[in-house]
Amino acid sequence: MIRLNIGCNPSPRDNMSEPFDSTTYARQVRRVFRSLVCSGGNAADISGRMHLLTVAAERDLLRFGVPSEMTRVACGPGCGACCVLNVSVLIPEAITIFWYLQKVFGEEQLEKIRARLHELRIKTRWLDDEERLFLREPCAFLDQKGLCVIHKVRPLLCRAITSTNSSNCREAIAMAPLNGQPSIEMNLFQKNLFEAVYQGLKEALEDAGLDHRPRRLTSVVLALLVEPDIVGTFAAGEQVQVH
Ligand code: SF4
Repeated sequence: MIRLNIGCNPSPRDNMSEPFDSTTYARQVRRVFRSLVCSGGNAADISGRMHLLTVAAERDLLRFGVPSEMTRVACGPGCGACCVLNVSVLIPEAITIFWYLQKVFGEEQLEKIRARLHELRIKTRWLDDEERLFLREPCAFLDQKGLCVIHKVRPLLCRAITSTNSSNCREAIAMAPLNGQPSIEMNLFQKNLFEAVYQGLKEALEDAGLDHRPRRLTSVVLALLVEPDIVGTFAAGEQVQVH
């Protein structure tokens, strides 16, 4: 397997007084992925490149994250408290999830996922972030045990949400409709790192002349399951229509 080096400069571990330079990191992602993620191909190719990107970012998280902060991350299997938010994804992320669903689930389970996505899309399609939070409708990929069924290929912005205090997180989300902006204790390094990866990928797609507009997770994965030819549309550099 190719080992990618995104790199990170400066890192909190090397120099505690320096903040994580997310702009530089996003620029490095953009440079590394301009040719790699953005060279078209089929769903398997695109998923393979996205896998390299997430593995490299996870490796940087372990390499550069402050150990005391990393051990404080409270997110874990069975929580899912924050999985009631609108999630934005870039098309290669959605193609990776689509590819994973096809590989891992049988036709019966896929049909159930399609139905859940369809139902959620109808309920949330026009809701802004605040309205979606108020609705408290869970993500279509959260199962009854509170597990994310696409955990291995979950979106970059889901990876960026990293509470360091689960009760504070649950309470803040529950109170959000009343308080407006919930205040949640987070591992800021992890948040900034994955947001930088997302931004770098978006810019790399734009450089390559590919569709780089963020889409709602629910709508775009449903669109791919219904119309897999969207992968070819994206790879050809055309605009992907998601209704
Ligand atoms: S994709 Fe997974 S982690 Fe992200 S909101 Fe949905 S269930 Fe939660």
